[in-house]
Amino acid sequence: MIKPLLAAVLCGLAAFASANAADDNWNKPVEPFQIYGNSYYVGVSSLSSVLLTSPQGHILLDGAYPDSPQRIAASISKLGFRIQDVKLILSSHGHMDHAGGIAELQRMSGATVVASPLTAADLKRGGMDKDDPQFVGSTPFAKVAKVRTVRDGEAVKVGLLSVTAMYTPGHTSGGTSWTWSSCEQDRCASIVFADSINPVSSDGYKFNAHPQVLKQYEQSFAALEQASCDIIIAVHPEFSGTWDKLKNGKPHPLLDGGDGCKAYARQSRDNLGLRLAKEAGK
Ligand SMILES: [Zn+2]
Repeated sequence: MIKPLLAAVLCGLAAFASANAADDNWNKPVEPFQIYGNSYYVGVSSLSSVLLTSPQGHILLDGAYPDSPQRIAASISKLGFRIQDVKLILSSHGHMDHAGGIAELQRMSGATVVASPLTAADLKRGGMDKDDPQFVGSTPFAKVAKVRTVRDGEAVKVGLLSVTAMYTPGHTSGGTSWTWSSCEQDRCASIVFADSINPVSSDGYKFNAHPQVLKQYEQSFAALEQASCDIIIAVHPEFSGTWDKLKNGKPHPLLDGGDGCKAYARQSRDNLGLRLAKEAGK
């Protein structure tokens, strides 16, 4: 698990250094693919974007780096859909590696952007809040002008599509995962687009000194452990084992018996435990 751990350590902070690096390892073009039913992966190599389609219009989740939108739009087009038919863009959290492309995707599609109130504030600011564990004083991505806010547990809809916000704070205070159901013939699968829940920070920050943030992590671990979760796609796809699962040769390789979200929460809970022990000098 060296790669996910490394990426966990780098999440967010590395994005500042590589914002415009088209060949960044996280930003490589990948073939779009069907996740299940009307849900498709249209992101880049290490930053997920997911398209949920319907005849009345589509929903897109996350926008990756500032220079990812052309790749996301190309993937949407390759699948036979049109970026102009995206009606809503949902955001996980306001760090550049997931939100940097949202303003451009909104411009390309005319879609309404939807986020939790705290993530909406980051999107409008074009950068993270000063209380963010990773705050380093910069506002590095394009500001998003129009953002609609969503409550925890609220569903947003386009035609018959319905996606529910599940707040998963900690990595950021506004962090939001999104859940929905996609169907094929007689079977429907619960899909969770899981936000980052890894304890990453700028130098000098101590999670031990922020009990309210530790409480947020507990809320998020519990939410993910209890979620109906036939398929998990994490905002960094390797964290949910997406690429490994795709190699397993089964007809629906991402269906993993409902344990994917529990495993994801467990991995982050372990990482947080290690981090707290290190801060305590153990
Ligand atoms: Zn982040």
